[in-house]
Amino acid sequence: MHEKYFDNAATTPVDERVVAEMLPYLHEFPGNAASIHDYGRRARAALDLARERIATLIDAEDPLQITFTSGATESNNWVLSNYEDIAVSAFEHSSIRKVGIQRDLANYDGKRSHALLAHMWVNNEVGTIFSLPMVTGQRTLVDATQGLGKLPFAVEHFDYVSASGHKFYAPKGVGFLYQHEIDLKPFMIGGEQEASRRGSTVSISSAVALGAAAALAIDEIPERMGHAQQLNEVLLDSLHGISDMRINGTTPKSPYILSLSFHGIQGETLLIELDQAGFCCSAGAACNSTSTSPSPVLVALGIEPEWIRGTIRVSFGKYNTAEATSELGANIARIVEKLRKFQ
Ligand code: PMP
Repeated sequence: MHEKYFDNAATTPVDERVVAEMLPYLHEFPGNAASIHDYGRRARAALDLARERIATLIDAEDPLQITFTSGATESNNWVLSNYEDIAVSAFEHSSIRKVGIQRDLANYDGKRSHALLAHMWVNNEVGTIFSLPMVTGQRTLVDATQGLGKLPFAVEHFDYVSASGHKFYAPKGVGFLYQHEIDLKPFMIGGEQEASRRGSTVSISSAVALGAAAALAIDEIPERMGHAQQLNEVLLDSLHGISDMRINGTTPKSPYILSLSFHGIQGETLLIELDQAGFCCSAGAACNSTSTSPSPVLVALGIEPEWIRGTIRVSFGKYNTAEATSELGANIARIVEKLRKFQ
């Protein structure tokens, strides 16, 4: 199942073991973690365990440095809402980049020190792994969304770290923010949940799922990396014969993401034909898939418009197989050749 789903950077299927851990918290144990009775205590205990598991995954000193959120978008928005003077690169996810643009702060030149530097770890479109800044005198927000659960990670000296569960086999709509010092004013104003850091009743089942996914990741990261690397090589081998093809993004790169450009074709037509053949790939960031303007990340990389037009993203996950990946390669080669004949 899901062998031909190659859009794992957009979202991953929920692992069955994660589903099994979260299900009891929907009906059997439906408590609110803020309640003081037995049901509430059970919910709180589940939340504590989930927080500990995430702390272990990211090597945080104290589980209380972690606040559950609805995902990386909220976590990123939350941090930025606390800072006026921010530096944002053109490669950031839209939940960071658009805040920068709104405030007319999108021109990070690296020369001046800002109060907060927002920097992604793994780029969601081309897979480049950025070396994370160690800058004194300014705070750092690391968007770890595309690397967490896939590559080893530690919070080290970072002030804030954001991530979403659905990129590593937990459900959508749950993520977290790590704060080194608990110094942010709430973004979600409401009750006193999450030690008054974030209003809104915590979804215990989702938090449990995130914790379960973190625990699985701790055990499985080496295996997942090896698998992704293997699939990456299988795909590139099977595309060997295609002329006028480029692999986008600078190294080092995450083995889970391949951004490929084919000159002389429309990436969208290729995606539609792949879909008809049973393969799910994407043009780039899923959250911008309805936009007709070229990806700001590809533009910032200096890729020419005629190559951007023919770009697709293949993103691997643990359910993909080498057979399906080689079949994907054969289908890409077949369709690209056919489309080029018609241009
Ligand atoms: N940051 C990065 C790097 C991402 O890839 C994504 C999801 N595409 C997000 C943040 C936002 O995650 P979510 O949509 O789960 O809030």
